[in-house]
Amino acid sequence: MVLCPVIQKLVSKRVVLASASPRRQEILNCAGLRFEVVPSRFKETLDKASFAMPYEYAMETAKQKALEVANRMNVKDFRSPDVVIGADTIVTVDGLILEKPVDKRDAYNMLSRLNGKVHSVFTGVAIVHCNSKDKQLETEVFEFYEETKVKFSDLSEELLWEYIHSGEPMDKAGGYGIQALGGMLVEYVHGDFLNVVGFPLNHFCKKLMELYYPPPKDAIHHVKHDSIPSVETFEVLSDEECGSSNSTQQNATRTSKLGDGATGSLGKKEIGQHMLREPMVKCSGDLENLTKFPSTLLELLDGFKASKAMFVACKLKVFDLLKGKAILKAKDVADHINASVCGTERLLDSCTALELLKKTNQGYSNTELADKYLVSDSEYSLHGYIMHANDHVWPLFTHLESAVKEGKNQNHRAFGKKAQDLFQDSYYHSMETKLRFMNAMHSIIKLTARDVATAFDLSRFRSACDLGGCTGALAQVLIQEYPNLKVTVFDLPNVIENVACFQPTGQDTSRITFTSGDFFKDNIPEADLYILSRVLHDWPDDKIDALLSRISDVCTPGCALLVAEIVLGEEKIDPPRAVLQSLSMTEGKQRSSSEYKQLLEKYGFTQVQTKITGNFLDAILGFKKTTHIVN
Ligand code: SAM
Repeated sequence: MVLCPVIQKLVSKRVVLASASPRRQEILNCAGLRFEVVPSRFKETLDKASFAMPYEYAMETAKQKALEVANRMNVKDFRSPDVVIGADTIVTVDGLILEKPVDKRDAYNMLSRLNGKVHSVFTGVAIVHCNSKDKQLETEVFEFYEETKVKFSDLSEELLWEYIHSGEPMDKAGGYGIQALGGMLVEYVHGDFLNVVGFPLNHFCKKLMELYYPPPKDAIHHVKHDSIPSVETFEVLSDEECGSSNSTQQNATRTSKLGDGATGSLGKKEIGQHMLREPMVKCSGDLENLTKFPSTLLELLDGFKASKAMFVACKLKVFDLLKGKAILKAKDVADHINASVCGTERLLDSCTALELLKKTNQGYSNTELADKYLVSDSEYSLHGYIMHANDHVWPLFTHLESAVKEGKNQNHRAFGKKAQDLFQDSYYHSMETKLRFMNAMHSIIKLTARDVATAFDLSRFRSACDLGGCTGALAQVLIQEYPNLKVTVFDLPNVIENVACFQPTGQDTSRITFTSGDFFKDNIPEADLYILSRVLHDWPDDKIDALLSRISDVCTPGCALLVAEIVLGEEKIDPPRAVLQSLSMTEGKQRSSSEYKQLLEKYGFTQVQTKITGNFLDAILGFKKTTHIVN
């Protein structure tokens, strides 16, 4: 079964996976990709010091692995490949890059580092398109990386050694395999699980979508390569890629001992300023554990500073200035943004430490992340959402203590407004706040709409009505995904009158209609499918009762309601972003899957299912049954 339709685009091509990792093969096999396996001979000894960020190292290694295979096959094979896929997975913790342990002691050192902590797993992926004429190979490389955060439980020495003696850690980056026994070490995973296993399938499929269903062109980092590393330079087989378990020699060369010996054989390198944190006290054994500043608390202590630094850099349009290939000194940036040089330099250095900027002798430049998401006019810009966080959410959070004590939202304190009707009165009191809010909604939904639209097969529906559909960003994706679907976007008049500036150019939107009205009072348009995306969490129970009763009344049997929200875990303590969002003091609340099921069933919907998309929003779908019974 091919889950990702774009994978079918590769059916007629000669696709090669430049990796012997059985885990990567299994992931791609399961996705329905047809490919050959040609393990790379690229010797993984790139100088980690030359990379500002750990993921850059992983991406470069992935690229070199793929290019080596492409070049070798072009020379030796009758038919050169069309596409070569390379990947490299690394684990980072406390400023260290952990690769594979060289022996049991090394595995112990690694696992002890990870014990009780959150660490990052990065996989760099390179998709190399090959074109060979007269044995002259031209390649075009598309690269990306995926980061997943993994938290290890507090594990006893006994358990760690038991795990090490199982032999499992020896051929795994970071010394554990999450898909097998190592899973028992892990408390939680934030992000793509398969990325930790070794291949970020979801991101890979999205990249293929971008490649084979353009635009957006600028959402992809294109690199043209004129020169390809010659095979001779990589004659030593990489043990990782050959799947050999006898990896001591190779891993010994891969593991750079740059620390002071106290780090054992862990590869340690400067990989960005904040990754470089040294333990605050250098001691050994128990004393070290007692006197180390707890990193979790350090992150919580500093989290607000990091957020505000990013907000301010966005507000001052620093990332817009450094967009594309621009490299500027602090003084030039200061001149452009009309700010002091010393203040600007501190802001730029902070953004560099946060991996939003890169700093070299020539000056500061955007990272790929900043170019893609923080530049205000980029295709998938989050600038609007960040400005909403800065101008609206931040002031509310400064009154968190009062909100907790009073159990009420703090709009009156933060903005001098009563939030009787959040949307009509407070949010939209000026054109500026209205557009800022619409921009924020638009930027979030653009990044999550496809996952919401495809969480369930909606092809049976002919008409949909997106209630509170704002700029129509979800509607735009729905009509792309479902050629027979017409969508009505229903929202308040003062929103609908401003949707024009959010409509895409060059896309047929004739199947989208905008209708203004109040979903608590006015007639709800007829449709087979009703959608409430990020609406329910905003309202108190009485308003939800009014809204769902009205939808239930117009919804005929067989029609459905699709809800898009962040779905809480049943314990209601994860994901943290949802739990924290509920502190933002609206009158509504976040719900778990069983609570949404109960809620929808109460209003006559049946077969209620939840899909956790792994993206910003999850999806819940229920079908209207014959009789509507309100308990
Ligand atoms: N559905 C969009 C999304 O997921 O990005 C927007 C969500 S936003 C949190 C809530 C939307 O509901 C806003 O666009 C707001 O204008 C709209 N809304 C609020 N009250 C409404 C009402 N009484 N009638 C119609 N729309 C309303």
